Amino acid sequence: MKLILLGPPGAGKGTQAETLAKRRGLVQLSTGEMLRAAVKAGTEIGRKAEAIMKSGGLVPDDVVIGIISDRIAEPDCANGFILDGFPRTLKQAAALDQLLDSKGTILDAVIELKVDDDALLARIENRARETIAAGGTPRADDNAEALKTRLMAYYKETSPLIGYYFAQGKLQTIDGMAPIAEVGRQIDALLAA
Ligand code: ADP
Repeated sequence: MKLILLGPPGAGKGTQAETLAKRRGLVQLSTGEMLRAAVKAGTEIGRKAEAIMKSGGLVPDDVVIGIISDRIAEPDCANGFILDGFPRTLKQAAALDQLLDSKGTILDAVIELKVDDDALLARIENRARETIAAGGTPRADDNAEALKTRLMAYYKETSPLIGYYFAQGKLQTIDGMAPIAEVGRQIDALLAA
């Protein structure tokens, strides 16, 4: 099974992708996580991405498309995967369609998590607080200023994908304001249908 989780920053894509991947034996592919790992490791991609990510902007399409096409080619992805944070632009979506087509496969579903904008800032500030309380370092982009840029990027670049996948008959929408476990149950229910 090949799925995409779509939604604004803070919608809960990462949280849901992680538990769904475990329940279904799928691989979670988060471009945000991969880029953060590249920043931490100080690779060339990481050096290019660091300042863009910190400000809340989008990393260039060719960079993330390259990362995903390499990752999808690895054997553990043969069983299926959940994309979380990719695609984020129409160009990335078209590249993904082409990539899957070249492997003779297709996307099964695109699940949109719908969350009120007002809730997003609270969730992101809460995530930063919890990370600090646990003795960790919060994400460089989990603050009010970067969130504004991330939200703008979402509305400008990513939200057109809702129409793109609706037109493909793949879009399913879920209420991301529900408690985490309930969102998970709703995802399971729609995948079972
Ligand atoms: P969130 O969805 O919570 O904002 P992510 O962890 O998915 O966070 O992504 C963090 C940052 O990584 C983004 O703000 C962006 O700079 C970069 N990024 C991740 N995925 C992509 C992508 N597909 N295209 C461009 N930039 C990306």
